[in-house]
Amino acid sequence: MKKVLKLNARSVVEVKDGGECQCVKLNFQVYKDGKPNFGSKVIIYRREETGYVFDYDEWEYFDCLLPREDEIVFDGELEIDNTFCEYTDYDVEVGKTYVYWVGRERFGEYLTGPAPVTVRDRRVWWHFDEILEKTYALQKDFPNDVTLEQVGNTVYGKPLVAAYVGNRKNLIACVGAVHAGESGPEILLPLVRELLTEHHELLERCGMAILPVVNADMREKMVDGAPWYIRTNAVGVDLNRNFDADWELIDYSYNLSSADYRSPTYRGPYPNSEPEVRALIKLMESAAPRALFSFHFLCSITADGLIVSKSAKDDAPYLADADEVKQIYSDSFRDAIGAQRRENYKAGIVCSAGSLPTYMYRKHGIPAFDLEISGDLDMLMDCKRDQTTPEMVDIARRGHKDGLIKMLERYSV
Ligand SMILES: [Zn+2]
Repeated sequence: MKKVLKLNARSVVEVKDGGECQCVKLNFQVYKDGKPNFGSKVIIYRREETGYVFDYDEWEYFDCLLPREDEIVFDGELEIDNTFCEYTDYDVEVGKTYVYWVGRERFGEYLTGPAPVTVRDRRVWWHFDEILEKTYALQKDFPNDVTLEQVGNTVYGKPLVAAYVGNRKNLIACVGAVHAGESGPEILLPLVRELLTEHHELLERCGMAILPVVNADMREKMVDGAPWYIRTNAVGVDLNRNFDADWELIDYSYNLSSADYRSPTYRGPYPNSEPEVRALIKLMESAAPRALFSFHFLCSITADGLIVSKSAKDDAPYLADADEVKQIYSDSFRDAIGAQRRENYKAGIVCSAGSLPTYMYRKHGIPAFDLEISGDLDMLMDCKRDQTTPEMVDIARRGHKDGLIKMLERYSV
């Protein structure tokens, strides 16, 4: 039996001809009769996949594809290192999705695949290394104003490093990418750097605690080119359902059950079961923020859709406070990006049982928000098709910067 095994495709940046270029790297093992087969001839098929709809389809979509025999990107001998072959496809475009198959005989029956990959824009999707580097750079460039603290690790062991900025005794908290395919680091880290440069005095009156990426393991998969939306952490738990705050209540958002382990909204086997959640709790306990803003939505972008916990639905004073925050945040967000203000804009009461806002409401009693898109802001909706541009991230950052400046003023001492 002839076989090519374990085909993986990743979108990476390489230096070629003296400059950085984005490419797709294929890795696979070649076997023959159950043993590694050295020096075999390899054929690589590729097709550009334009019909895939981000956010809806999953693996099944790609599994059903068949290779087009006329798109051969490689036909020849590849070097084998141990049992591994590697092929780099430099002829790719940022933003496009490709599907690869590998075989050893032309039109033969030994094709392995498909391996789908989306070539992601590195200005829109940052690698974990880059996020860490930028977090450490804040401390290096502003040593008197920034302290870093590792608050935990992800399932795969990535360090979760939080930054305390400015006043450590009186602060607000911002966290990013609790859901892998959503927003956070690309908005928050440049924003904090700007605030340190331009609003130093304000930060001394009200500081910030920042954790730019929470679901770092699975976000890395998206940066590497997983073409579909990923929500859960590496062991399939929705971190925004896992907190020990009304966890026992089953949530049915998106017509999915949070008690179903197959659901992308799975709450986990027991409250606080996930290391990322315990890291967040540690951060929140040591930071004791006055308010919390958790960045969500899609593809590195979010807007001024501020939503609060369903558990607070009968708590009128809490909701009145949340509405006030939302109006202030939204007005400044919209002024900053030149969008029309919304009158009497109320906080949506939609955050689930076991979510971070529910936890902050129950345990700390502070205004706590997930930040989502607002339906009327067409300008940001390209992210729904996985087509976020650096310009869109810039717009979002400008809006959130002014929104957060107003929050720093509101909670200043
Ligand atoms: Zn989310």
